[in-house]
Amino acid sequence: MPRTVFNIDIRKPPEQHDIKTHNRWHPDIPFVETFKPGDEFRVECFDWTGGQIANDNSANDIRDVDLSKVHYLSGPFAVQGAEPGDLMVVDINDIGALESSQWGFTGIFALENGGGFLDRHFPRAKKACWDFHGIHTSSRHIPGVRWPGMVHPGLIGCLPSQELLDRWNKRESALFNTNPDRVPPLCTLPDGMAGTTTALMGQLKGDAAKDAGQVAARTVPGREHGGNCDIKNLSRGSRVYFPVYVKGGGLSMGDIHWSQGDGEITFCGAIEMAGWIDIGVDLIKGGMEKYGVINPIFRPSRIEPRFSEYLVFEGVSVDEHTGEQHYLDATIAYRRACLNAVEYMKKFGYTGEQAYMILGTAPVEGRISGIVDIPNACCTLALPTEIFNFDIRPTADGPSRKVPQSNVADSD
Ligand code: ZN
Repeated sequence: MPRTVFNIDIRKPPEQHDIKTHNRWHPDIPFVETFKPGDEFRVECFDWTGGQIANDNSANDIRDVDLSKVHYLSGPFAVQGAEPGDLMVVDINDIGALESSQWGFTGIFALENGGGFLDRHFPRAKKACWDFHGIHTSSRHIPGVRWPGMVHPGLIGCLPSQELLDRWNKRESALFNTNPDRVPPLCTLPDGMAGTTTALMGQLKGDAAKDAGQVAARTVPGREHGGNCDIKNLSRGSRVYFPVYVKGGGLSMGDIHWSQGDGEITFCGAIEMAGWIDIGVDLIKGGMEKYGVINPIFRPSRIEPRFSEYLVFEGVSVDEHTGEQHYLDATIAYRRACLNAVEYMKKFGYTGEQAYMILGTAPVEGRISGIVDIPNACCTLALPTEIFNFDIRPTADGPSRKVPQSNVADSD
């Protein structure tokens, strides 16, 4: 087993750990440790909320999550000899749930606190908890489904340079300012003065941490350095090529998912958990120029669950509320595909919330099938039929069975 270079104790809040996590991106966050190309090591990670969610039957904790503090990232780790312009080669050799925490959760976030892809349809906070059985998972809140996990870090990336950070802040501020009162917001900007308390800056201390915390980027979106890309196939055996933007690279990770559907549509949409990742690092000198890389590229693992059959739902770029025709809008088209799948599953006895959470957590494949046939983008969502313990295919007799009446955990 490789040496564990970042330890966490889930019984203690992240702020009370000796080696601190960070929840912002900034080039001055100090490295936890420097490795040589070829080294391998183990990193432990909090769930993305840093332990704010309990394994129980109330979604009040989802309703009340403090989103100014997420994500709690382990790192950054440097690679000797890494310089801007290189590619850091990162192997995810293995990954799993912490031995002391064999469960996960999925949340539908309240419209006023984060929202989600279908937040106009599902505005209330809800929660489902999942138990792990070896490679499989099931939930007491969502009957009739069970599938093998594809465990992956939702968030993994390298530190930005000052120039890159400035560019992010400039372009995201410009977007935010087009509609500053929107709920949920168009994007999450650095906290300014509030950042002196909400920003966790790893091992950066004192005034330096306070100053950097005010302008450091939030970890919500994926960007050029990787970050919160939520790629469900980034599982054990995958390799990622990260562009290096600062000397040493500075690799950090967290937000581990047991499993996720393409799009992570409920926002806290995967099966979220605390876990560990075995990492291997290497370098390709000058790789950004050699391969024309700005954003990371990755090679998914050869090992993935095998499904032989899917039901594929289509959606086109027509607004479901107004009937308005939009021009090649893949966001609307994917939303319509998701809504079509939700309506279908409801015919088998699922509540809308249960169906929504299945689409966020099960290994569903989301695709842009057509993006040239004006005016409709066509997006598809492929639902593996074998995750259900009953026949979910359409027949002349109608839905083959109804799942027992139940629901996900509610908030007050
Ligand atoms: Zn996550």
